[in-house]
Amino acid sequence: MANLKMKEAALIYLDRSGGLQKFINDCKYYNDSKQSYAVYRFNILINPSDIVELDAELGNHILHHPVKAAEVFQSVCFIAVKTLSLIGQLQTETQINIVLKLTHLPSLPSYSLNFCEFRLDYTSQRFYMMQGIVIAMTTVTKYTQGARFLCSDEACPLSKGFQYIRVHAPGATESATVRNDFLCNLCSSSLQEDRKFRVLGVPSGISDNFRCLLSLTSSSCWKFTAILANIFASHIVPPGTYNFLKLCLLMSLVQTRDSNKELEDCLDILIITSDTLLVDRLLNYSINLVPRGVRHPVSTEIFPTLFRNNYGTGAVSIQAGSALLAKGGICFIGDLASYKKDKLEQLQSVMESRSITVYIPGKKFGDDTNQQTTFPIQCSFWSFIDMDSSSRKHMQKTNTLIGQMDCSLIPANLVEVFGLLINCNESSPCHPFLPTVQHTLKKAIDPEGLLYLASKQFTTEDFEKAYCMGKRLKGATVFCVAPNAVFPFELYNEEYLEQRDVYLTQCQQQLLQFIATYGPGTAVFASDE
Ligand SMILES: [Zn+2]
Repeated sequence: MANLKMKEAALIYLDRSGGLQKFINDCKYYNDSKQSYAVYRFNILINPSDIVELDAELGNHILHHPVKAAEVFQSVCFIAVKTLSLIGQLQTETQINIVLKLTHLPSLPSYSLNFCEFRLDYTSQRFYMMQGIVIAMTTVTKYTQGARFLCSDEACPLSKGFQYIRVHAPGATESATVRNDFLCNLCSSSLQEDRKFRVLGVPSGISDNFRCLLSLTSSSCWKFTAILANIFASHIVPPGTYNFLKLCLLMSLVQTRDSNKELEDCLDILIITSDTLLVDRLLNYSINLVPRGVRHPVSTEIFPTLFRNNYGTGAVSIQAGSALLAKGGICFIGDLASYKKDKLEQLQSVMESRSITVYIPGKKFGDDTNQQTTFPIQCSFWSFIDMDSSSRKHMQKTNTLIGQMDCSLIPANLVEVFGLLINCNESSPCHPFLPTVQHTLKKAIDPEGLLYLASKQFTTEDFEKAYCMGKRLKGATVFCVAPNAVFPFELYNEEYLEQRDVYLTQCQQQLLQFIATYGPGTAVFASDE
């Protein structure tokens, strides 16, 4: 009975605090995604003061037995899902995972943990406040947030459905959630995990805004990325413009690495544009998202150079230059046409070999022997070519198609070493003229004002987090886009996104078919695509 009373109180609290409406909205995201999950996770915000005032017993339960209190909310939420038909795919109560998020704890001594006193109570599973200084951090580990198990005996009714759902409990080890020795309660056969349904938890990372977007777009493997590109840098260019360029920049950013780890892949980008001002701003904004994004100053050297330290011992020193400083990140070298021929040749050879050798002539620096040192170049290069100045110099009209463009100012071999060549001129689909003009005017009238709803939802910080996340995930996922001039990339509305998804799915299937047919010895597994 006590439990029923607490459920009633929980429902009243959810209703009064606005939590019920948030829950219904969260359910809508799941329901709209049409995807079936093992576990549906919900965060419920709890204000302990309010809840204690409403129902002391429930308040006490939440503060001192939060795991059991979460079960009360789990039950209430399951009843709500069923009576209001909120999520069609959800079958059992065990599929609901409730995380209680407390706004604060009572400011009483028994709610704080003092490390100095060191009498930690490991047995009570409840909330404490901790104060201290973080002196070290572990690496980020993936863990299983939820998993579905099925009875291995096909005759058993529990070989179907969602009866065996394992959910990660705070502090539990991975083997507590997933193991291969669980047994069926009904027939004692071993349980097998249905790995399609495994939900991986990521402890820290993307913001709630992106998490929400991710769940909304989970039905498609392209929508999330497309929407991300659409809203990226929306205070510089209006959402929906420069999408292809922004997508490529995001891809290149995700390839970067912190610290001293080897850079496995990099994505160099060369942009052909007649709007250098906007492209320059966009690139400057983007490099600031990564720890080692270096804007190369024209007056200095890109690559290491020798110099004699006249103030110290007079010994020879090697100055790093922008490319070495950008190790693991991005080196944005500005307008390619602003460099002299010898520098361009050097750039080409370095980009081809991804290393540079510095020769130290012995004679010149008071030594008998010549020396040389080789440095690996581990950064992605970003650059652009000003099409207007290029065509002015050559007194001829440029053609808008990639491949027929006048790039005679830059050696073709150099253009080729850039992994991606992006055409961004006024008549190209990624450069709609009018919205950009409107954007610039609006910004001139109200520089601080909020220009787009999307930019309110997704801040630069969101993108920083998302980019960190992307770097961690990039080992597992590969996203490739062919630079196709006719690729439909505008994002007007949801209908358009759907159309494009159909288009992309067709392309993907054709590609898989092609590989299956012509690729000798290539097995294509539909589930692993
Ligand atoms: Zn069984």
